[in-house]
Amino acid sequence: MEPYCQTIRQPVTGRFAPTPSGRLHLGNLLCCLLAYLSVRSRGGRFLLRIEDLDVPRCPRKAGLQVLEDLSWFGFRWDEPPLFQSERSAIYQRHLDALQKKGLIYPCFCTRAQLMASAAPNLGDTQVVYQRTCAHLSPREAERLAQTRRPAMRLRVPDEVVSFRDGLYGEQAENLATDCGDFILRRSDGLFGYQLAVVVDDALSGVSEVVRGRDILSATPRQIYLLRELGYPVPQYVHIPLLMDANGRRLAKRDRDLDLTALSRRFTPQELLGRLAFSAGLLPEERPATLEELIRLFDWAKVLHEDLRLPASLTAHD
Ligand code: GLU
Repeated sequence: MEPYCQTIRQPVTGRFAPTPSGRLHLGNLLCCLLAYLSVRSRGGRFLLRIEDLDVPRCPRKAGLQVLEDLSWFGFRWDEPPLFQSERSAIYQRHLDALQKKGLIYPCFCTRAQLMASAAPNLGDTQVVYQRTCAHLSPREAERLAQTRRPAMRLRVPDEVVSFRDGLYGEQAENLATDCGDFILRRSDGLFGYQLAVVVDDALSGVSEVVRGRDILSATPRQIYLLRELGYPVPQYVHIPLLMDANGRRLAKRDRDLDLTALSRRFTPQELLGRLAFSAGLLPEERPATLEELIRLFDWAKVLHEDLRLPASLTAHD
């Protein structure tokens, strides 16, 4: 495959978009590091967005802590950070535009009804929606709306959406059969991640999205949304997941791998060096500065398989 970095346009604008539902952990930092190095090594712009849509789970102080933590590492962003919790009016405007195109319909199904429908599983909690509410008459919808606030779903076509991922190559998904009509605004009024992420990336001029491989399967949905909203599609690079030294995926519950604990035991350079080593960017485990990593960054060096953290990070002295 042609090396990714030779195929993209310049100047590039990248971003890091964490959900601050806890303190940043090393998986988030690896993502930020690769997104940052990728654009900075080509003289590009780097933006930061705090994805705190789910306000009860993402308190303001957790978002502010992210800014502090990233600054501690020396990351710098080129515009004031966006907080999604402040952008509901913008998301609503986009939802209205999709509604005008006849692509949105209200869905009154409860979670229990959704889980009970005999549809193929997308994961532990997602099912392909069987379009129960897609055929409601306006009168029926109005009647149901008197007792229950609906979620808003996007109608997807029976069509394959494909893209070329920077690390994982060609990807394709049939929206109707692999994903189904998905929610853009939840019944509690919160906007869905898929809508917010594409609106924000588009309005910020993001041309390169670097993020965890766990989001790869959402990308065709986002490409479809971008297309319907009339926005350009960025280049996507999904990165391998970071496992602990025992091969377990890192999670928010691993408190000893979040920055509260790590910043007491290591300097920023020690952590950056270890992350760069796990990703394949450094041949040995040693401290490194961001400037040095920018100079030696190359997507061709980044490993594709799940990454193991060095045991030195997990072993306590
Ligand atoms: N907010 C998402 C997360 O923290 C990432 C979204 C994205 O990069 O598109 O997992």
